Amino acid sequence: GAATYWHYTDAAAVAQTLPARPKFSHKGTFGHALLLAGSRGKMGAALLAAGACLRSGVGLLTAQIPSLGYGIFQISQPEAMCLPDPQTDFISELPDLKPYQAVGIGPGLSQNAASLAVFQQLLKEAVASKTRPKGLPLIIDADALNLLGQHRELLPLLPENTVLTPHPKEFERLTEPARDDYHRLELLRDFARTHRCLVVLKGAYTCLATPTGDLHFNSTGNPGMATGGSGDVLTGVLLALRAHAQLPAFEAVRLGVYAHGLAGDLAAAETGQAGLVAGDLVRHIGPALATLT
Ligand code: AMP
Ligand code: MG
Repeated sequence: GAATYWHYTDAAAVAQTLPARPKFSHKGTFGHALLLAGSRGKMGAALLAAGACLRSGVGLLTAQIPSLGYGIFQISQPEAMCLPDPQTDFISELPDLKPYQAVGIGPGLSQNAASLAVFQQLLKEAVASKTRPKGLPLIIDADALNLLGQHRELLPLLPENTVLTPHPKEFERLTEPARDDYHRLELLRDFARTHRCLVVLKGAYTCLATPTGDLHFNSTGNPGMATGGSGDVLTGVLLALRAHAQLPAFEAVRLGVYAHGLAGDLAAAETGQAGLVAGDLVRHIGPALATLT
């Protein structure tokens, strides 16, 4: 019969995709990631994404955050470096991107004009160049997706294999309202092909769409993860894996989505589904990844 474009991400699909850490590795081996996240009242999103990134094997993490979050960020994420923005309540400046192998933007970002300008500048600077022939790996989530939906003229600027992580509402803001769940998958497939990006449509059986028009349904995760902050954790996981020099884009995202769901399953075994909070995912992401090396 005709080749199918539906795939299932089970343990066999991701087995041995995460490279073992070489004995003579150093922190430079695993990449330096930049996170742009947080605003007044939503600093937790930045903390969860940062914690998840650090627990997913990144070499170094720097976060640009609004300055009101400086103290809480430095105290709760001592392993990360921090660039406090000149603005107190939201991010208004893009740092020099030279040191970074991947950039994540969106968790708790807010949608004000200054943060939009930062996002636009990021897209302009992330395009392919002589020093970065594939462009800068980007993970776009949450309010950065909402900004993208309001400014679709930015879509052609996305470097190939940019990772977008919408839940269904965020996805429909990028495209159009779906008639039903199947139509949403068709819109998803079209979108990933047209914009040559990796789109993670989140929910039960999270569906990863690729520029080739393939759809990969994830097998891990549980309804305990339907709780505030779960998606911010995923952004941090994917940021770490996209900064990893040895992981191709698609493998990194498929692995990250699977490991994030597995962390949810390990966490639920401990707390129960109702008792699960997003911070539990951060604590379990290391053990989840350890089963995949
Ligand atoms: P967000 O809506 O951005 O917080 O993202 C929610 C995260 O939790 C995504 O990674 C979803 O895939 C996951 N999630 C939410 N509900 C479920 C569910 N019923 N089963 C499995 N995973 C879920
Ligand atoms: Mg979210």
